[in-house]
Amino acid sequence: MSNYRVNHILIAGGGTAGWMTAAKLNQHFSQTTVKITVIESSEIGTIGVGEATIPTLRRFYQSLGMSDLEVIRKTAATVKLGIEFKDWHKPGSSFIHPFGIFGHEANGIRFHHYWMKLRELGDNSALEEYSLGIAMARANKFTFPLENPESPLSIFDWALHFDASLFGKLMRDYALAQGVEHIDAKINHVNIHADNGFIRSLTLDDDRELAADLFIDCTGFRGLLIGDALKTDYVDWSQWLLCNRAMAVQSELVGEAMARTVSKAHTAGWQWKIPLQHRQGNGHVYCSEFVSDEQAKETLLQHIDGKVLHSPRKFHFTPGRRSRAWNKNCIAIGLAAGFLEPLESTSIALIETGIEKICSSFLRPFFDQEVVDQFNQRTAAEWERIRDFIIVHYKLNQRNDSEFWHYCRNISMPDSLQQKITAYHERGDLLHYPYEIFHPDSWLAIYSGFGFYPQNYHKNVERLNPKYLQQSLALMRQSITEAVAGFPSLNDFMLQNQAQYSVGE
Ligand SMILES: Cc1cc2nc3c(=O)[nH]c(=O)nc-3n(C[C@H](O)[C@H](O)[C@H](O)COP(=O)(O)OP(=O)(O)OC[C@H]3O[C@@H](n4cnc5c(N)ncnc54)[C@H](O)[C@@H]3O)c2cc1C
Repeated sequence: MSNYRVNHILIAGGGTAGWMTAAKLNQHFSQTTVKITVIESSEIGTIGVGEATIPTLRRFYQSLGMSDLEVIRKTAATVKLGIEFKDWHKPGSSFIHPFGIFGHEANGIRFHHYWMKLRELGDNSALEEYSLGIAMARANKFTFPLENPESPLSIFDWALHFDASLFGKLMRDYALAQGVEHIDAKINHVNIHADNGFIRSLTLDDDRELAADLFIDCTGFRGLLIGDALKTDYVDWSQWLLCNRAMAVQSELVGEAMARTVSKAHTAGWQWKIPLQHRQGNGHVYCSEFVSDEQAKETLLQHIDGKVLHSPRKFHFTPGRRSRAWNKNCIAIGLAAGFLEPLESTSIALIETGIEKICSSFLRPFFDQEVVDQFNQRTAAEWERIRDFIIVHYKLNQRNDSEFWHYCRNISMPDSLQQKITAYHERGDLLHYPYEIFHPDSWLAIYSGFGFYPQNYHKNVERLNPKYLQQSLALMRQSITEAVAGFPSLNDFMLQNQAQYSVGE
């Protein structure tokens, strides 16, 4: 394959993946003659979940010219400062993975080395006391981050919890206004070129045949093009990630929305709580070998405060990814490319990185095998890094209440994760691999949340004056406490910024 020209891109599927891809690719190719069409079936519909995000989502819509407040208002969104993990370490425990940093590094040495030295001196302050993001999340306060903070202690980031169908509509409206063509029909058949195995066209249920040069498979778990038609292998990661089912239900919101997602561990999985402005999303992710669907449903419903708005919906999945996200002239984005349980809200982030890679692959509307190979290598790395990050949440648990958690604790790890954990445990080193979405402070939040500490800290911290260290770290804690005291509650922030959902705005 050499310099394969692209004039027409056909996006199959109009869920979050399909419309995000259409919106961004249309912008990317706006100065060219490349035409973009989305085919979706309103009869089939979308998956209807996927409502917690990470901060990269904000960069994505900002790149389309949308502001935070506009998106919050149009998608009934609330603010997310991180995820609270309840009962994961042990029953009764709680820690937060914030979108932000801990303390600040000095002399090129990461903060946690200083903090460990302080612990050795008998100070019991928790690592989370050095995180502005966590302090805000615990107090349920919010304000926009400073653009140019004077102190690293003022740094935090944030994301959204949004209504998936409203976000899909936002992306769709944007793409259509920019000239993307839209066809509502069912794809009945994928036609393949006999000579090179490329996709030639799609046959619709009204017998129309639509040809294109590049096909983006956004058909969700079905993977109609990448899987059914091109027979691209699926790399199954069930040996490391046991959960394979989810049960989701919406409920009325009780009390004020919290500026964090809550993930509560159960005996064979965990339950999410995602607050929106007008309702709450709930879901139980579990392993079918350790709990029946009926029991999982019961557990889910037992842990919801507000009135449940419909019967729970069940999802089956196999953790893993397509061996090649780009195969022939087809690129899989979204659930068609694979799935990792939503523990760290990474699916939509992987849609973003997938789209970003398509844009960087097409600086001109041509592609060749080298471009395809690079795309696939980078995709594999991004997915594997997230896989490892999720595994570590299970691996470090200290729960003794069920066979599931015992099994997870004793599971063997991929080499890439083993190396990371060893580097941290032996030297306090937080390795950061290329194409890794989560930064070292995210790993630190998880390690310390599970009470997993290094055996050694940096040698240059050893001879630090104890009094000076104690005073400096006490000042850090104080400055965080004082800053948070001055911030508005999340509720006041929403009112002051008129951020409430307005229908049809
Ligand atoms: C239980 C669960 C919880 C999740 N939670 C999160 C979360 O908190 N955060 C996060 O980032 N992600 C989450 N995800 C993932 C997230 O939901 C998806 O990444 C996101 O919604 C994108 O889905 P999609 O567009 O790929 O697929 P879908 O929404 O399934 O869209 C598929 C599209 O393809 C169309 N289609 C399918 N077959 C045909 C056909 N034959 N002809 C025409 N059109 C067709 C459908 O009509 C639809 O438009 C979660 C997923 C699950 C299962």
